[in-house]
Formats: sequence, C-alpha cells, structure tokens
Amino acid sequence: MKLYNTLTRTTEEFVPHEAGKVKMYTCGPTVYNFAHIGNLRTYLMEDVLEKYLRYAGYDVKRVMNITDIGHLSSDADSGEDKMLLGAKREHKTVLELAKFYTDAFFADCAALNIKRPDVVQPATGCVDEFIRVISALMEKGYAYKAGGNVYFDTSKVEQYHKFFNFKEDDLEVGVREGVDEDENKRNKNDFVLWFTKSKFEDQALKWDSPWGVGYPGWHIECSCIAMKYLGEYVDIHCGGIDNVFPHHTNEIAQSEAYLGHPWCKYWFHVLHLNTAGGKMSKSSGGFLTLKKLEEEGYSPMEYRFFCLQSHYRNALVFSQDSFDNAANAYRKLRQRTLAIPAEGEADAEGFARYKKAFCDAMDADLNTSLAVTCVYDVVKAKDLNGATKRALLADFDKVLSLDLLKAEEKKQSALSAEEIEAAIAARAAAKKAKNYAEADRIRGELAAKGITLVDTPNGTTYKIQ
Ligand code: AMP
Ligand code: ZN
Repeated sequence: MKLYNTLTRTTEEFVPHEAGKVKMYTCGPTVYNFAHIGNLRTYLMEDVLEKYLRYAGYDVKRVMNITDIGHLSSDADSGEDKMLLGAKREHKTVLELAKFYTDAFFADCAALNIKRPDVVQPATGCVDEFIRVISALMEKGYAYKAGGNVYFDTSKVEQYHKFFNFKEDDLEVGVREGVDEDENKRNKNDFVLWFTKSKFEDQALKWDSPWGVGYPGWHIECSCIAMKYLGEYVDIHCGGIDNVFPHHTNEIAQSEAYLGHPWCKYWFHVLHLNTAGGKMSKSSGGFLTLKKLEEEGYSPMEYRFFCLQSHYRNALVFSQDSFDNAANAYRKLRQRTLAIPAEGEADAEGFARYKKAFCDAMDADLNTSLAVTCVYDVVKAKDLNGATKRALLADFDKVLSLDLLKAEEKKQSALSAEEIEAAIAARAAAKKAKNYAEADRIRGELAAKGITLVDTPNGTTYKIQ
C-alpha cells in the first residue's frame, strides 16, 4: 500500500516497523465543545485508513488520547486552558465537561460508523507518565525551568522542523497577533512541558510535581500516551493538517529526545473541511455539528459518503449544494444496493476481479473516491450475478462502512409477518407462471426492506437482517 507521508513529503510504500503489525496513534479531541463536522472528517478518514489496514491483513493497534487538560486557547502556550473556558461557559466542572463532550464525541463516531480505537486514554489519567518523561528530559538536558514553568529546549535537537524546512521568520505561531511572546523561553519555538505559573491562577485541575503544583502542556500528552501503549516505535501518527505545527513538530522533538532514536515513520494528515467563509473551527462558534445535520433531515451516512467522495489530502468545501448532491447520490445508491437480489452463487473469479480494482484504489494513497466508483461499478456490472454483487458490497463495506446492505430499522419493522408471507406467495406464483422478472422484483423489494429470502426444498423462508 502506498501512503503519502507528510514527514518526507512523498508517497511511499507502507512498511511497518514489525512485519504484519501496525501501531497507530491518533490525536483525539479536545473535549470542551461538540466536535464539528470538520473534526469528524479527520476522524472518519483515519477510520477508513485503520479499517483498510485491517482489511489488508495487518494486526492494528490504535491509540487515541482525549485532551481534557493543557490545551490552551492559543497553540503558542498562551491564553486560558480551553477546558477551563468551556467549564466556565457551561457552569460545569472540568471533569463534568470532559465527560459530557467525550460521550458526545463517541456518539457522533458511532453514528458515523467510526470504530472506537483499541485504547482511548484521557490525559488526566496519565499525569504520572508525563512527570516521568519530563523528569528524564530534564536529566538529559533537553528541558529547563524558567519563571515557574518547565520548557523544552528546541535548540538542543538537531533538526526541530522535521516536517518542512521552515524559515524561522515565517513561523509566526509564537508571536501571533494578540499573543505576547513568553519571555521565559530561551528560543522562540520552545514550548511548555509543565505549567506551574500561568496568568490564569484558577486552573481547575493541578497535580504535584518535582517542579511545583501545576499541570502538563498539551504536546507532552500525546508523546507519553503513544509511548505508554505502543512502545518506542509508532508506525502511523494521524491528525488534522493544522496539527503539523506546532503540535506534531513538538511531539517529534520531545519523543526523539527522550527515546534517542527516530520515533514515528509515517505521518498521515487530513486536510481541512472548509465552509465558503473559510476553515471551520471549534473556537469560532459558527460551526456545524452532526446533530445539526440530522435535525435538518440528513443522515450521518450521507455525511460519511460526502467525505469518502473526496481525497483526504484535498481541502473539502462544505456547501449546501455539494452536500445535497452527495446526500441524494447516497440515497439513490443505497436504494440500488438494497435492491440487489441475493440470487445465484457467488462467482469467485468475478469477485476477485472487482476486489482487485477496489484494493488498487485504496492502495493508491487511500483513494476513497475511486473506491466509491468501484462500488458503482459493482452495482452496474452486467457480468456479475446478485450473490456476487452482494458479497462484493459487503466486502467493500468492511472498509467504507456505508451500510450499503443494511436496511434501516424502521423499514424492517414496516412489514408484518403476514405481508412478508403474502409477498413470498406472490413470488411463488410469479415463478410458477415463469414470470421470473416479477419474482426477482419481489425478492429485491423485500431485500430493500432488510428481508432476505431463502429458498429451501420445503419452500421459501426468510431472514431479517
Ligand atoms: P481538536 O478537538 O480541536 O483538538 O481537533 C480534533 C481534530 O480535528 C484534530 O486532528 C484537528 O487537526 C482536526 N481538525 C480541526 N479543524 C478541522 C477542520 N476544519 N477540518 C478537518 N479537521 C479538523
Ligand atoms: Zn496529539
């Protein structure tokens, strides 16, 4: 499989550190608000990557953190803690806020068929780990104490800007508008590992540490949680493109300083979902949630389909028109997939041929829009019988998770047992009259409602999916 690696800026053959195994790390959400559909695009594409790796036979272990502390309102170590701001806004404790939005996040994921990672670790549960790694960085001379905080000294690493050869002056993150540069820093890009002094004294959660009572910085969370569960080598680290700098750059600097060897080989970044007005962001307030889309009558699967139709390395613009087009296309597609009769026996040669086209698309840096085209090709295929089509769609859906063959609950209960029996009798009559088209139509109609007919020597029975 070929994947684009942000670290090398090339599309490379994916070769994990240990044959057959993939250690995958995902930056989880900062749980101070609902995830917007932009955040969900990132998690959705990461889900497809994980599922495709599993589909391709890898034994995948995926770890995600939950940022419930230390992510300040500016990535440049300044501003108030996002969690604290959220807690004040909603008159909740920080932990109540974290629980509420973590649950909301996983509810959105479940609705979008995004698999829960094998390990989900809130940062507040790993403070001992952060202190241990920061202490080691201090001992090795990579960290220093200044003005009450502990900083990582970026001048001590050979190459700080691992992703791109930035010119220092182009990197304005440390001195963004309205953000005072922290005068305790020895170098502009140094970042806080542990805060004991912040302008905001009312930090809700604090822990004792060798450097005084305080709390960890955001970047150290991910390095430590990844190392705790995945060991010294990570194969794929994922996140949205905005994480490249400073978050992932800092993760690499501190992890490699601590470990003394390269840490993560492949960096997978998903480009942003934008609205016509620009990037969608949690802090700007004007963002769309999955719940909002559902209130407007759309289904989560329609959003999943919308995302899969574009490549993860292209920015995606969300407009009413483009989303409506995708939603309509998805509804039509599903009507067609559900109507495919389960007739004949699956044909191994046809199955292998279409599966290869699907794998070729996914192997080419996860070309999901081409994979969706493969779905259409199966639906339209003149050379495949119903059973083969259904087998292929079920197979592709292990990765795409578009519920292509899963009938809606409502439709299942829409037909009573009597109605199903009547349809079976009508089909038997059609067959007797050699009207096979009508028999197939009835079978397809039932299939669309999640009812699969099973012909036995003693007559026809049915299964409800
Ligand atoms: P956060 O909860 O703010 O830490 O972000 C969660 C994930 O969503 C991170 O991987 C971000 O990089 C990603 N992200 C943030 N904004 C967008 C966006 N507009 N489109 C896609 N992904 C985003
Ligand atoms: Zn992270």
